[in-house]
Amino acid sequence: MSEKKTFVTLEQLKEIDKTYPTPYHLYDEKGIRDNAKRLKEAFAWNKGYREYFAVKATPNPYILNILKEYGCGVDCASETELMMAYALDYKPGEIMFSSNDTPAEEYAYANEIGATINLDDITHIEFLDKILDGKFPETMSCRYNPGGYFQLGTSIMDNPGDAKYGMTHDQIIEAFKILKSKGVKHFGIHSFLASNTVSNEYYPTLAKSLFELAVELRDKTGADIKFINLSGGVGVAYKPDQTPNDIAVIGAGVHKVYDEILTAAGMGDVAIYTELGRFMLAPYGCVVTKAIHEKHIYKEYIGVDACAVNLMRPAIYGAYHHITVAGKENEPCDHKYDVTGSLCENSDKFAIDRMLPKIDMGDYLIIHDTGAHGYSMGYQYNGKLRSAELLLKEDGSVQMIRRAETPKDYFATFDFCDKLDKLNLN
Ligand SMILES: *Cc1c(COP(=O)(O)O)cnc(C)c1O
Repeated sequence: MSEKKTFVTLEQLKEIDKTYPTPYHLYDEKGIRDNAKRLKEAFAWNKGYREYFAVKATPNPYILNILKEYGCGVDCASETELMMAYALDYKPGEIMFSSNDTPAEEYAYANEIGATINLDDITHIEFLDKILDGKFPETMSCRYNPGGYFQLGTSIMDNPGDAKYGMTHDQIIEAFKILKSKGVKHFGIHSFLASNTVSNEYYPTLAKSLFELAVELRDKTGADIKFINLSGGVGVAYKPDQTPNDIAVIGAGVHKVYDEILTAAGMGDVAIYTELGRFMLAPYGCVVTKAIHEKHIYKEYIGVDACAVNLMRPAIYGAYHHITVAGKENEPCDHKYDVTGSLCENSDKFAIDRMLPKIDMGDYLIIHDTGAHGYSMGYQYNGKLRSAELLLKEDGSVQMIRRAETPKDYFATFDFCDKLDKLNLN
């Protein structure tokens, strides 16, 4: 059970308000650093270990630079993410390209900057062959999908058989053989079987199946397996009644199966990679928004100045995000509200039938755990603009790490339309 604490106080929010209007995304530098350190320690037993932060979760150079201090590389899913990695001086070996349905030019660019390509499908070998003119990189990775259901004990965690990613068991064996014949020397195996798992068992269970597959692949294809990439999926406790994952326990669990399977098979030099996004950032970011309207019809509504463009997860997945009314942490939650944004979409609700303290106009609402897959999923529906991203630094100061969009940004792709001149945007 986790107590949902905020990393910012009402006093701090009032201070921030003097410079940066709500809504905004706020990140907690100390929280990010402490967590990155814990992850590093949890896998310190593995010599080649590296976390490749899933850029899509929080694609902000300031955040990436913090994580880089802990040895994190980046996992990119698209050309622009690769461009960001290149601009930030990530070196070959520090960039993973785990894409799917990949356009040819993205593969070409990934290869050009020395990213490790993680192939999503066996047919991509031919596709890549044409792009690279037969000159494959020395190291390649393949993504595995075991099909069926992924279970931990008796509970079904997810449904890989219904997921578009990865190769089947027989395909990955065949893929290794073909890649070897094309000159690839070193191999990696990647798999992502369940998202947002709140269980210390996910990684060890996944690792076990990948380690067994690695031994089989070595035996059947003679491939030199350099790394096993456990990918993302380690989740966070969004809800107050959930117990957060303990990364030290997870690291030890992976260590145990590593020794049992890989070390025992003479493969004790295989590196473990991870591509965590949510686990690295979600709890260390929040959306700060102000109550601007209250409405009493068939239900009680609180309208805030953020909407689904700032945080899409509740609208698209019905995802739970805890809400704290700043300064009212100790007041009874005796009011039932729907907390809404302003989009012309009834799904634009941050909370439905949520018990909260009595909310007054002007109150700051802190929406928790938005540090990953929050800002980055944002969009501009209804002509709403994306907010600023702010970093609460360890010394208590606040740094703007991305400015808010302006109407000029929104209209920028219409530059050919001279009618817009009369708006005098600057
Ligand atoms: C989204 C994604 C991740 C990160 O997932 P989290 O759930 O945020 O940890 C890692 N690898 C790949 C290939 C992904 O698509």
